[in-house]
Amino acid sequence: MALLQIAEPGASAPVIRRRKVGLGIDLGTTNSLVSHYNGGQLTVFTDAQGRGTLPSVVHYTPEDTVVGFAALEHMDADQADNVASAKRFMGRARIDIDDASHIDFAEGDVLAFATSAGAKTPVEVSADILRALKARAVAALDEDIDGVVITVPAYFDDAQRQATRQAAEFAGLKVLRLLNEPTAAAVAYGLDNAASDLDTDDRTIAVYDLGGGTFDVSILRLHKGVFEVLATGGDSALGGDDFDKNLADYFVSQYQLSVSDSSARRRLLTAARRIKESLTDNECVLVNLTDVIPEAPANAELTRQQFNAVNADLVNRTLDACRQCVLDAGVDVIDDIILVGGSTRMPIIKEVVGALFANEPRCSLDPDQVVAMGAARQADILVGNRSDEDVLLLDVTPLSLGVETFGGLVERIVPRNTTIPVTRAQEFTTARDGQTGLDVHVVQGEREQVQNCRSLARFELRGIPPMVAGAARLRVTFQVDADGLLEVSAQEETTGTTAHVVVKPAFGLQDDQVADMLRASYEFASEDMRARQLVEARTDAQQLIEGVAAALDVDGDLLSDSERALLEQVMSELEAVAKSDNADEIRSATESAGRATEVFATRRMDRSIQAALGGMSLDALDKEFEE
Ligand code: ADP
Ligand code: MG
Repeated sequence: MALLQIAEPGASAPVIRRRKVGLGIDLGTTNSLVSHYNGGQLTVFTDAQGRGTLPSVVHYTPEDTVVGFAALEHMDADQADNVASAKRFMGRARIDIDDASHIDFAEGDVLAFATSAGAKTPVEVSADILRALKARAVAALDEDIDGVVITVPAYFDDAQRQATRQAAEFAGLKVLRLLNEPTAAAVAYGLDNAASDLDTDDRTIAVYDLGGGTFDVSILRLHKGVFEVLATGGDSALGGDDFDKNLADYFVSQYQLSVSDSSARRRLLTAARRIKESLTDNECVLVNLTDVIPEAPANAELTRQQFNAVNADLVNRTLDACRQCVLDAGVDVIDDIILVGGSTRMPIIKEVVGALFANEPRCSLDPDQVVAMGAARQADILVGNRSDEDVLLLDVTPLSLGVETFGGLVERIVPRNTTIPVTRAQEFTTARDGQTGLDVHVVQGEREQVQNCRSLARFELRGIPPMVAGAARLRVTFQVDADGLLEVSAQEETTGTTAHVVVKPAFGLQDDQVADMLRASYEFASEDMRARQLVEARTDAQQLIEGVAAALDVDGDLLSDSERALLEQVMSELEAVAKSDNADEIRSATESAGRATEVFATRRMDRSIQAALGGMSLDALDKEFEE
């Protein structure tokens, strides 16, 4: 028997709401992961063998596309059809790649990898990885996915972020947000909540991320629940793989091995990696390389100390990058240090990073999983399973956004560090009588003059009805969405005419560029202010001069010859003063010239009133006023 749920009269039927499914995805250079937060627990989805990580490698043949460990198995037999490290090429054009001689790119302008299944772009490769991750989650949850949060390096620019979004689209995933990897790690450790609980001041967090092929260090500031990336640094060609290479080279020289072909070299690297990883849990390991190179000694010993000595240089390079990053961030206290990435399992890393910052690094969460976990927590909130205690993570605009106004000055519309998403509007008017177009020049930066800011876009609003200067009402609206994409629109309010532009590429800046622009704005603050005052004074003078000239054309007959000559003389004197560099002088000259126009202005006013009343009897006028 089917049961019907019947509500009591007057009582509302119980609403059973499905908890939505949001996933967090760490789309890594070497390994990728997918995680889910179900309100109480973070789960990293595993494959049938219980492995949480999915190697970011795809094997393409005309028959099949294989992702992850299965693709790695083809490494020896068919390396040409294997694509690894696609993340390094996301959002990049061929000309951006300095040295990729070791990579088999397909012919053509578009950057793509050559495989026997055809050319594969980095976006397609990433999409295949995302599909495999999605399949894992769907199999485990047996539910549809409502949305995902994908992490990206903090230094990723707009093109790289767009490419990541596109890959997700190809994989049929709805991107709720792209989240910076270091921010995700901080969220996984609950630092966002910790700060709001304590209601403390700002907190600075260093995130040290040593993965397979890359090293990233970021300094974040957490202020009222908002994470701001203060600085990023690192080395895109330094990772766990380099430790493997160093160790392999050490074996070659120590045991005088001859590694003839590339397959032997690869097997030696794989052995080195295994040895490296077992030294994480053991002080000393037995090295047996006879499988790889028959003439190698059977049971040599390698201590962790020896391993550390072989890699001391790599470790020091990461520390140098940390020091530089702290300098760039301009902070003197680091409250928290977080270790991210499989390579931070090496005991030497914990040791030296702790010593550098004189603080115990956080490493209680699995360094492979921490980024995906933070992303999952955000996904759960963004998908709509939001409870009161959850804080929505927000980003901020790194630099002010504004438009160019008269005289090359910047009118700021969205100040720097405004939390996004945000919409701000401002009214402008026309400068000249009969002006029918408005040139909207969108700029980014903290300086007073357009020439010292970054130009983002230009567009024109046409079709403004001709009116006297200052009568038109032009509303310029800036909208920055949650991903930092800027859309600017302009509308003439009486007619509703609109124009708009979406600023996508190059809106995102590298953090060091942001830092440079900020530094310049402080450095030139007083100089900029003086320049602004001068430009404003000159603009006022010029408007008066042009206004008087236009009025003389129309109503010149209201003045006697001598009155007119005097007025023209005053204006040409003002024009001369306006050329000087003294803002105060220009301003006072403009004021006194303004007073000299008063008689003329009064007569013009009288005339226009007469004209308006023309033909109307006084009676009619009275009636008009009564109504
Ligand atoms: P990515 O962020 O580049 O995708 P991961 O964070 O997954 O990379 O890190 C992969 C690296 O971590 C590899 O170089 C691997 O050898 C290293 N790694 C994993 N486990 C250990 C371990 N137990 N000890 C040392 N290194 C490890
Ligand atoms: Mg990583």
